[in-house]
Amino acid sequence: MKDNKYLILVNKNNPMKNEEEYVKVLCKSIYADDRTLEKKTYEQFLKLQDFVKTQGYTIAIESGYRSSNYQKKVWDECVLLHGLEHTKKFVAVPGYSEHQTGLAVDFLLYENNKFYEDQKMKGHKVLEVVRENAYKFGFIIRYPEGKESITGYGYEPWHLRYIDDVEIAKYIKENDLCLEEYLDTI
Ligand SMILES: [Zn+2]
Repeated sequence: MKDNKYLILVNKNNPMKNEEEYVKVLCKSIYADDRTLEKKTYEQFLKLQDFVKTQGYTIAIESGYRSSNYQKKVWDECVLLHGLEHTKKFVAVPGYSEHQTGLAVDFLLYENNKFYEDQKMKGHKVLEVVRENAYKFGFIIRYPEGKESITGYGYEPWHLRYIDDVEIAKYIKENDLCLEEYLDTI
């Protein structure tokens, strides 16, 4: 396996371990001004964003790096409000969220002075533009359609994961793999 710290696997069975290894920077986003991402992830996201703009769409960072403290807060609040069973289904266990890597970005769409996030983008052309081109900037769709039993998450076309390798990102896309499947092959 190529020594690439950007190929780290964080999922429901593999917690995030070396948070300090990934340098985070403050991001500019028309949606929120306090988001942070790993440095290269942010630089490449800006390039993807510019490309998407040339196709006629404005995307922005909705969610980036989340610290374990933040994830714990989200978890605790959800348990309090909705109970443990519900929380287990919808919130990543603190330590096990890919957003703790700083390499994951949830983007949203800005159109007609409104923001569209998550399911509100469903069926929108922008998702196709991102899905077809994200690899050129080193990103993969981390939770592809039909891979729920492997990734543990339903289809999330807005959740991008930076892997810092255009060739591998292209391979993953062209062979319709998720990250777990790719890592199994090497
Ligand atoms: Zn996400």
